[in-house]
Amino acid sequence: MRPFDYVRAGDGRQAVGLHEPGTMYLAGGTNLVDLMRLGVAEPDRLVDVGRLPYDRIEPVPGGGVRIGATVRNSDLAAHPDIRRRYPMLARAVLSGASGQVRNMATVGGNLLQRTRCGYFQDISKPCNKRAPGTGCPAIPGEHHNLAIIGHSDSCVATHPSDMAVALTALDARVHVTGPGGDRVVPMPGLHRLPGTDPQRDTVLEPGELITTVELPAPPVGRSTYRKVRERASFAFALVSIAALLDIDSDGIVRECRLALGGVAHVPWRAARAEDALIGSVAGEEAYAAAADAELALARPLPRNAYKVALARNLITSTLRELAP
Ligand SMILES: Cc1cc2nc3c(=O)[nH]c(=O)nc-3n(C[C@H](O)[C@H](O)[C@H](O)COP(=O)(O)OP(=O)(O)OC[C@H]3O[C@@H](n4cnc5c(N)ncnc54)[C@H](O)[C@@H]3O)c2cc1C
Ligand code: SF4
Repeated sequence: MRPFDYVRAGDGRQAVGLHEPGTMYLAGGTNLVDLMRLGVAEPDRLVDVGRLPYDRIEPVPGGGVRIGATVRNSDLAAHPDIRRRYPMLARAVLSGASGQVRNMATVGGNLLQRTRCGYFQDISKPCNKRAPGTGCPAIPGEHHNLAIIGHSDSCVATHPSDMAVALTALDARVHVTGPGGDRVVPMPGLHRLPGTDPQRDTVLEPGELITTVELPAPPVGRSTYRKVRERASFAFALVSIAALLDIDSDGIVRECRLALGGVAHVPWRAARAEDALIGSVAGEEAYAAAADAELALARPLPRNAYKVALARNLITSTLRELAP
């Protein structure tokens, strides 16, 4: 590992002030330290933001909740208000990593963790995301667990966070502070598709620090998070879904939220499926039509076409499970 400076920030302003070219923020370190060991990340300076006072989960006017960026994943998943009012979020967080990792991992770090594409993590291989302009060996090579929607000729990686999928379905708003001041970034909208410059995962500018994530009051309906993976724990999603469904007394879908993980470079809000479903008569036909509307966007690669069928089955079976 290359030598680096380490400094702990006392507050957000100080953290931003300490950020200069070559600096990275360090929170729980569960992703960044791994990448440093692998030689993928080589910061000159780490600014430790893991103990900044953004460690609260508190209500906001209007019935929503504000979640600090340094709240640990375990504390988020165990919080009574999150479990009761935002069950898809609690479930999504619990489906990720292990108890030990969740005890260290923070909300901010979880959102900004990097792709698990094997070529990205192997510095002996080319990779447009890690080394722009070197190519994407995953396209002709190993891509069975990579993207089916929204990818480009430059990169077919997927975004790994489970929590981000639930936050995308819940219309989260990410508050950041940086050299240019404070701003709010909506989800979806924080993460970006790869296009021709996959080295950028998000719309954040250098030095911008996530301070809090705000959720509006939860929409009415039954909700859940389901994740299909290659083994029962300690594995990233092949395909996952955060879903909410509300059906009125006439059997018409009144509200629906759907977001998919494991299919794209971003947590994927399935807006076409939602549009197809809202106002229709709940049932198998409507669920299948909604899934097909979304998956018409899919452009699978030779070895990940199975994900299209998997996503379709996951959407329809989850909606069936949520229907009363
Ligand atoms: C074995 C293993 C299995 C895992 N399985 C899953 C899984 O199934 N699902 C899942 O979702 N995750 C999984 N993870 C990933 C884990 O959830 C992330 O590593 C963790 O959430 C990252 O949080 P952190 O606080 O440790 O971030 P760090 O590693 O400290 O930082 C990650 C990135 O975020 C940046 N950063 C951190 N905080 C801020 C901030 N406030 N503002 C701006 N930038 C910031 C850092 O600069 C860095 O680039 C797994 C991890 C491991 C090690
Ligand atoms: S899919 Fe993206 S991260 Fe993976 S090798 Fe290609 S460019 Fe790199």
